[in-house]
Amino acid sequence: MYTGRITTLVALLLLLLRSAHGGWLHQDADIMGTRITVELFHEDPQLARRGVAAVLAEMRRIDAEMSPFIASAELARLNRSAAQAPFRTSEELFRLIQRSLDFSRLTEGAFDITFASVGFLYDYRKGVRPDDSRRQEAVTAIDYHNLVLDEGQQSIRFSKPGVRIDLGGIAKGYAVDRCIRILQDMGIDHALVTAGGDSRMIGDRWGRPWTIGVRDPRKADALVAVIPLQDVAVSTSGDYQRYFEEDGVRYHHIIDPQTGDSARELRSVTIIGPDATTTDALSTSVFVLGPEAGLALVDRLDGIDAILVDRHGKLHYSRDLQPAVDHGKGAGGSEGTP
Ligand code: AMP
Ligand code: MG
Repeated sequence: MYTGRITTLVALLLLLLRSAHGGWLHQDADIMGTRITVELFHEDPQLARRGVAAVLAEMRRIDAEMSPFIASAELARLNRSAAQAPFRTSEELFRLIQRSLDFSRLTEGAFDITFASVGFLYDYRKGVRPDDSRRQEAVTAIDYHNLVLDEGQQSIRFSKPGVRIDLGGIAKGYAVDRCIRILQDMGIDHALVTAGGDSRMIGDRWGRPWTIGVRDPRKADALVAVIPLQDVAVSTSGDYQRYFEEDGVRYHHIIDPQTGDSARELRSVTIIGPDATTTDALSTSVFVLGPEAGLALVDRLDGIDAILVDRHGKLHYSRDLQPAVDHGKGAGGSEGTP
């Protein structure tokens, strides 16, 4: 009992000490079509403020280059011209597209940035989707092998017309990683950066781990899990983020590259891992793969954990997260370490 009180006292003291010297800053902003949150601490309040400003500036910079919707963005220009001739890219875009292709190979095509060849036919806000014949025609352009990368030239070409790229499944995580790197370079060691469903945290928060809540996919204000985390990244992909319903069917923004239709085996996927580029790409990937293949993949990867909510609302955990009682009867087919 005394130990509990002493711990509380120490935490309180730490809190007072920190607020006496500079402090924690918190800022939200709407960038990249999503909610950005920065929370950070530095003893020097001026440096803390500069840290927040640097994060927002970096988010805006990445959005301006990697949005497929901003006509002047490098990605939009690539989409407009790469079917006609190789498009020379910046080193940054080239590397991120290479990383995307690594995830395509790792997931046997579940993660595929050319999903956008069909994806652009949907407008979730307006409830617009392609009819079956239009979808089946466009789906033939989805295949990451249709991207021809020339490392020497740093150029990208589409091997057929109709191919489009969208980095929506990886760019937010990448942006979060870039921001964390910028903060670390500034000497800021306690921070959380979030872009929509993708977060990364460094250091602790008031002497305690950060906590991340996993939302109930069908109840906006309810949580299915709360996890304490430190020095990791976490991403959630859900079927409730961008969707509309038609005749009882939910059309949402995570597309199965095989069909060009929304993936429907899961309601949400949360991935915990070392960096946000990885957790972002994997949350989208596992969503497409479904519970069995998705958990099998996660259990094969070192340092990656997952919490899944399936289409019936049932929770599934990766091997290392399985609560003791659940051990051995998890719904996922784990295939073990190769
Ligand atoms: P997230 O919320 O991280 O799962 O990202 C969802 C976003 O990823 C969507 O809005 C699309 O931009 C993109 N996306 C959808 N399906 C795929 C897919 N199969 N592979 C890669 N990116 C995808
Ligand atoms: Mg993702």
